Amino acid sequence: MAIKRLLICTRGEIACRIIRSAKELGITTIVVHSGPDKASLAAQYADVTYDLKEAHASKTYLNKEAIIQAALDTQADAIHPGYGFLSENVEFAKMVEAAGLIFIGPDYQTIKKMGDKSEAINTAIAAGVPVVPGSNGQLNEDELLSIAEKIGFPLLIKASSGGGGKGISLVNSQSELTEKLAMAKREAIASFADDRMYLEKYITKARHIEVQILGDGDNVVHFFERDCSVQRRRQKIWEEAPAVCLPETTRQKMCESAVKLASSVHYRGAGTVEYLYDEDNDEFYFIEMNTRIQVEHPISEQICRVDLIKEMIQIAVGKPLALKQQDIKYNAHAIEVRINAENVYKSFFPCPGKIESINWPKGIGVRVDEGIYSGYQIPPYYDSLIAKLIVTGRNREEALSRLQRALTELSIEGIDTTIPLFTALSNEKVIQSATFHVNWLENWLTGWLAAQNRLTEQTEV
Ligand code: ADP
Repeated sequence: MAIKRLLICTRGEIACRIIRSAKELGITTIVVHSGPDKASLAAQYADVTYDLKEAHASKTYLNKEAIIQAALDTQADAIHPGYGFLSENVEFAKMVEAAGLIFIGPDYQTIKKMGDKSEAINTAIAAGVPVVPGSNGQLNEDELLSIAEKIGFPLLIKASSGGGGKGISLVNSQSELTEKLAMAKREAIASFADDRMYLEKYITKARHIEVQILGDGDNVVHFFERDCSVQRRRQKIWEEAPAVCLPETTRQKMCESAVKLASSVHYRGAGTVEYLYDEDNDEFYFIEMNTRIQVEHPISEQICRVDLIKEMIQIAVGKPLALKQQDIKYNAHAIEVRINAENVYKSFFPCPGKIESINWPKGIGVRVDEGIYSGYQIPPYYDSLIAKLIVTGRNREEALSRLQRALTELSIEGIDTTIPLFTALSNEKVIQSATFHVNWLENWLTGWLAAQNRLTEQTEV
């Protein structure tokens, strides 16, 4: 069976990204959008649009029934959820299947198994994949308290249903534990309607390294790893592929363990197996798996010369993987920076508004995945990611100088963006030497922002 009409139930740059691959496959693209997104780039690129009229995500991009209805009304035969919104929603994947439609992603049982963080950890243990020392999944409160003593401090309390950097709290000592656990539970109930918790040893100076995989239910292949250690509030803002800090034998072991984990659940679709890497003792630990396409997927596409969205679509219709592991190689380095409509000098406060003009960088090795255009009014209701700048070079040095060059060409007028931060970062020694870890950016930002504010004050005087 082939997909003729694909409904895309997400927005922004990823909706445009999916449209591009689907069109190349000769598929008619349908975008279901909110009222304010009527003028979006995705709505302009799509062959067919379906307006849900409302603005709020709960009534649009999170409205399962309305999206399925849109698919039926437009005679779609498949749905691509992108990332965020309903992409890892078990109930939605189940409803899509029940409506006789193809869900571009794993089946709902796999999303359930791997999407629940504590259950995924147990699956990893069973597959022989190393995990962070911790409570090995969710336990009752008394058990958690006694295990905390064994793990030692600092440690992290994590919500089983957490995601997007939320549902994680740091505990420095035994005396803080009971109170922080209660607080974490209250927050988890409010955010995820689920207060199951587990504990993990806090790895200081960890690197966040993740492996891109594709599975067809029988075979799994990997597309090497990405280093996503440059984070603010546990959210990635700058990503690279490959991770230059990894010794070759560790890279192989990590990628093989990701394949082993995905194979153990007969994984079908695109997925990411996330690890923390402790550089001091060259150990890596599984932390979670994402059962969808990720924001940072383009850097893996760039170095491996593969279109992951096309592969996802082919797998969803039951085609076997077109690629064999021995055919997947890389001899390049790619860097992605996330351009958000935010004011970096004002605590990254979102600043939606009208884009007056844009100059996209061009030239060899430059890719832009965007969801905006000149004259576009960014609606205030959704995530602030507006575009991604992706550069590729023969090696890291070339990619970095290409990024610096591309940033001098890039301008987005009318709103504040994270571009000035990337210009500063690309000239920073720690970035240039790739010696960052997950807590590095937060500390660096404090100093950088103070210096920027001093500069502004001086100019004002
Ligand atoms: P989410 O699902 O919210 O993205 P993750 O479990 O993937 O949560 O963790 C997000 C980030 O939090 C990681 O990239 C890392 O920076 C930090 N982190 C998570 N677990 C640990 C740990 N055990 N020790 C140190 N940092 C951690």
